[in-house]
Amino acid sequence: MFWQKDIETISRRALEALQLKRLKQTVRLACKNIPFYQENFSALNIKPRDIIALKDIQKLPFTAREDLRANYPFGMLAVDTEQVVRLHTSSGTTGKPKAIFFSKKDISQAAELIARCLVMTGTTKGDVLQNMMTYGLFTGALVMHYGAEKVGVLVIPAGPGNTQRQIALMQDFKSTTLHITPSYALYLASVMGNEGIDPKRDLSLRRAYLGSEPYSEETRNKIEKFFGIDVYNSYGLSEMNGPGVAFECMEKNGMHLWEDNFIMEIIDPETGENLPEGEKGELVLTTLCREAMPILRYRTRDIVMIIPGRCACGRTHRRISRIIGRSDDMIIIRGVNIFPQQIERVLMGIKAVAQNYQIVLEAYDRITVRVEISKDLFDGRVEHLVNLRNEITEKLRSEILVRPTVELLEPGTLPVTEGKATRVIDKRTL
Ligand code: AMP
Ligand code: ZN
Repeated sequence: MFWQKDIETISRRALEALQLKRLKQTVRLACKNIPFYQENFSALNIKPRDIIALKDIQKLPFTAREDLRANYPFGMLAVDTEQVVRLHTSSGTTGKPKAIFFSKKDISQAAELIARCLVMTGTTKGDVLQNMMTYGLFTGALVMHYGAEKVGVLVIPAGPGNTQRQIALMQDFKSTTLHITPSYALYLASVMGNEGIDPKRDLSLRRAYLGSEPYSEETRNKIEKFFGIDVYNSYGLSEMNGPGVAFECMEKNGMHLWEDNFIMEIIDPETGENLPEGEKGELVLTTLCREAMPILRYRTRDIVMIIPGRCACGRTHRRISRIIGRSDDMIIIRGVNIFPQQIERVLMGIKAVAQNYQIVLEAYDRITVRVEISKDLFDGRVEHLVNLRNEITEKLRSEILVRPTVELLEPGTLPVTEGKATRVIDKRTL
């Protein structure tokens, strides 16, 4: 099923022609109205008319997170403030936030992209979407909300947290679709499990959209199995509208990135050089349709690869892999590069492991993995725990190549976060 079949299945040739036309417009707009780009263009001695072919994008300057911060609050705006109808900010742990502006047209365009994603995964009029992302300055909930309304779906703006109320809403209004972070979905599963709720028997759920933080295929499997649903990966970032940038179709084999709205490049994060399809690198995105705040070559810091080949669903927009890591999440322990997702993948593949875990980095490059395990393993038989600890330690060691200390915890010991979970506590710099 398609929301905009002609554009979703457009030929590559026509798509590239459209991208080039929109790229030229975007570059002109950015250069005319945003002093940051004017300065950068003159420093590099380039002009908008130097963009003749798509590959000329490589001549353009990158935009970094720090540039958005440095130009906070209004510096990156390309239109009069009267034309702005919404402000969002991007989450960030340090310093000032980044201001993201939307014109009326931008809001509508972001909703169109979400509508494509929903229809692509079978959500349509008559479905009930329980939106469990945070409403407010964060883009996650509102952008999804507007897109779902566009399709004609009944949206429950539940927001995150208050798990008992969430369950009651699912029961009373027969929610079919969830929009939720993977960490909250795992938590929800453990609460339901403890209360004897079997979603397959007691609820009407059919699918869930999981995004906003990295998770592994193992976590997807765990959630699909418990809830008896299809889980689709959803990728986005506030700087590029929020959710709806790339989304899985029913093939569940990579996320179609809407290339009529964004140009994607994969670069080597060290050198900034473009990498070929199929190689892992940092995703760089250029907006093609944004009016209030066009952004050129934005360095997402997210490490992905483009999946080569056509998708069986018929869409021609290329797919990106699951986010392999964020370049700034990478941990270096005893000279070995480790992404927290590698640890997650191992843990979620072990049946006895419950939903919550934490990675603690300590002085002298020691790494401790604290992990909650199923209640029934605390049965008084110490050897069960010792065996499990050895199994987890060994599996982690073979994945990350350093031996962690593993601590087993009872369920409910670690803090639960409603938004993005904090998985890594770095005490090395404290
Ligand atoms: P925000 O600034 O709050 O919009 O967060 C955007 C960031 O969340 C992205 O740059 C990614 O690092 C992360 N993110 C969003 N969706 C996903 C996903 N499906 N998988 C992994 N990471 C994601
Ligand atoms: Zn597809």
